[in-house]
Amino acid sequence: MTPAGRFAPSPSGELHVGNLRTAVLAWLFARSTGRRFLLRVEDLDRARAGAEAVQLRDLTAVGVTWDGGIVHQTGRGTLYAAAISRLQDAGLTYECFCTRREIQEAPSAPHAPQGAYPGTCRNLGPAEREFKRSTRPAAIRLRADVAEYRVHDVLHGEFTGIVDDFVLRRNDGVTAYNLAVVVDDAEQGIDQVVRGDDLLPSTPRQAYLASLLNIPSPEYAHVPLVVNKHGARLAKRDGAVTLADLAALGVDAAAVRDRLLESLGLPSGPLSTALAAFDPAALPKAPWVWSGP
Ligand code: GLU
Repeated sequence: MTPAGRFAPSPSGELHVGNLRTAVLAWLFARSTGRRFLLRVEDLDRARAGAEAVQLRDLTAVGVTWDGGIVHQTGRGTLYAAAISRLQDAGLTYECFCTRREIQEAPSAPHAPQGAYPGTCRNLGPAEREFKRSTRPAAIRLRADVAEYRVHDVLHGEFTGIVDDFVLRRNDGVTAYNLAVVVDDAEQGIDQVVRGDDLLPSTPRQAYLASLLNIPSPEYAHVPLVVNKHGARLAKRDGAVTLADLAALGVDAAAVRDRLLESLGLPSGPLSTALAAFDPAALPKAPWVWSGP
């Protein structure tokens, strides 16, 4: 199978120029290295009716094309369950009954990094576990035997980040993103992950989980986000930031595409022209400030 890159939007609303810029970059990284380019809709959570169709239309409008059919995470529960069973069989999981509040209020374990799960349910005795089962449904956590893990990123170099006993399946039965993303990328033959650098901190967890499942880590490239003029991550409330908003102001999709390419130091016009000039080493390292239409 030819290796692949991908774009994996959550269908929670319209894509804004920041999301579209990440999609264009993921496409350029994949196509410039002879990879296929796949689209996966991450609809386990936060799916809003109608959002997917608009996202696909907007991706197409800026020239992002993909190979084959679109994969939806909601159709892949069997794959996720199989991966969780493998980890369970290897003794690498445990049930957790903590509420968010209990986690916040628990004293953190000695030397545990901030934000790490404090391990409250890691060593429950059988009686205590039985009792807790009668009070609340359990989430499944990974029994991690490292506290951090190192990954290599094409743009960031070596990056070491926290690995805690993160959730694999939430207590409402929904598969957690960190498990789904690892299983999906492997199953789809994706060996290059290009996404916003807000996800870099979760990457050591994913790479560690991949190692436990005997999955080779993909190549990672975490690209700078787009920010508003105050330096905060771009959001819908920052004015005209979607193709529909911009079209209403007379800025069409080709003009938006050209703005995105210009922000990347690439020639404007169809993405095929930009592809010929694409050099990851020459990409701007700083966030791009969206100053409005
Ligand atoms: N679905 C995630 C998002 O839209 C992206 C996850 C990924 O690219 O791994 O933020």
